[in-house]
Amino acid sequence: MQRRLPRRRDARAITVEVMNMIDLRNMTSRENSPRARIIVVGDGRVGLRFCQKMVELDLHHEYELIVFSEERLPAYDRHALAAYGQHRNDEQLLLAPTSWYAEHGITLHLSDRILKIDRGERQILSSRGEALTYDRLVLATGSYSYVPSIVGNEQQGIHLFRSIKDMERIIADREHCRSVAVIGGGLFGLEAAKAVFDLGLKTHIIESAPWLMQHQLDETGAACLREFIEAQGVEVHLNKTTTDIRGNGTRVTGLGFQDETGVDVDMVVFAAGIRPRDELGRICQLDIHSDGGIVVNNQLQTSDPHIYAIGKAAWHPDLMCGLVSPGCQMADVLAANLTGTPTDFTGIEQAVNRNIMGVNIACFGDEIFSGSDFESVTWRDPGRGIYRKLYINPQGTRILGGILVGDTSDYDRLLSLMKTEQTLTCSVEELLKNEASTSETSTTLAPPSPKLTRKVV
Ligand SMILES: Cc1cc2nc3c(=O)[nH]c(=O)nc-3n(C[C@H](O)[C@H](O)[C@H](O)COP(=O)(O)OP(=O)(O)OC[C@H]3O[C@@H](n4cnc5c(N)ncnc54)[C@H](O)[C@@H]3O)c2cc1C
Repeated sequence: MQRRLPRRRDARAITVEVMNMIDLRNMTSRENSPRARIIVVGDGRVGLRFCQKMVELDLHHEYELIVFSEERLPAYDRHALAAYGQHRNDEQLLLAPTSWYAEHGITLHLSDRILKIDRGERQILSSRGEALTYDRLVLATGSYSYVPSIVGNEQQGIHLFRSIKDMERIIADREHCRSVAVIGGGLFGLEAAKAVFDLGLKTHIIESAPWLMQHQLDETGAACLREFIEAQGVEVHLNKTTTDIRGNGTRVTGLGFQDETGVDVDMVVFAAGIRPRDELGRICQLDIHSDGGIVVNNQLQTSDPHIYAIGKAAWHPDLMCGLVSPGCQMADVLAANLTGTPTDFTGIEQAVNRNIMGVNIACFGDEIFSGSDFESVTWRDPGRGIYRKLYINPQGTRILGGILVGDTSDYDRLLSLMKTEQTLTCSVEELLKNEASTSETSTTLAPPSPKLTRKVV
């Protein structure tokens, strides 16, 4: 049973400017309590990572940790949702056993949504009626699926693909349909396509851009991926902007596109992007960025010094994407700050290394996105469905990033070469073709073979 605390009498004025210097341990603790209380809202991968880091740093003895999640399961792996359609086993999805929280003295409230934050009283109110005070509040509320306002999107047969609840709804609805259109040909869209395809539905992927995974791949890499996907029987529709969702009065019957073509389907899944879950921050009037997201400083502190935001719910200039690694780094930084060692969130490279619909895909490298000077070399082996591209500095001595389709077996090595900014000791061509020995000692950089395309970007 959760201990309820007396209401705080010394409600203080709220500082609305983001503090630059902090010593979290010197900030006020709850009266009459041996331990300061931290409430974490959201038990996704990032909320869990924060708790795990607190345990690793032995801070769970110093702070009382209470976690709230609106979902029925403790933190689970969203990447594994597609496979859930096959095994339907909750345990296989979990990132930590349910017992882990109690074993470390962490109180976990499931299926209980935080509705309100009273910043003056430093108190949260939950949907199950918990009213608890906090010394620190951590908002790890993640993101939601973006649904564009398309005519007809209120009909039966329309789904999202982000949570276990979404997946359960798709599974239940599967009985009523034979074909499905997934709107969005990015990373999440392809995950959604895999999920519905594996449920035995004729699957269409609808993408408004000229190629799939446009944030991660170039046109040639995406073409390799498309070939593989289509060979499995999935139809890919590029350059298609959906203008209306057709229906028969009750249920979806198809999609209409801007170019006046269309596709007949009886289910639609939106996987066309995500937006920060910043509504709690809005309700209690924290600073919110114009693009969405609760504004945080380098210590992940919001405009209220007692409230922090981590993961996609937060807005920080170096948080560019909704991927796992930057959110986890934020969780680590926040936990480290709670030890009293000031640590800054500095951003993290965007890297993806996944099997997407049966194809190994990896991409890495910040320079690609920040537009520094670089050249690129590419190699393709159509017979084996392999395409590889490396971004190198103009001198050809350093790896700045890359795109790997079909063969990603040396991803860790390439990523490490990039991160450590090592001068290459083998030829770019060997790296490109994945033929470089790990013990390569040559210091000469061989010119690229004539078969390779070298392009100055
Ligand atoms: C299908 C799919 C595939 C993906 N593939 C990749 C990949 O290959 N690589 C990669 O890096 N990332 C991938 N991602 C993204 C990755 O899952 C996210 O980066 C990660 O989930 C972010 O974790 P989070 O804890 O910040 O947010 P979330 O996982 O969204 O967790 C936030 C939690 O907070 C809860 N919550 C929100 N508001 C409240 C409230 N008021 N009260 C209580 N609880 C609340 C939410 O219900 C949710 O459970 C994928 C995501 C999906 C959906």
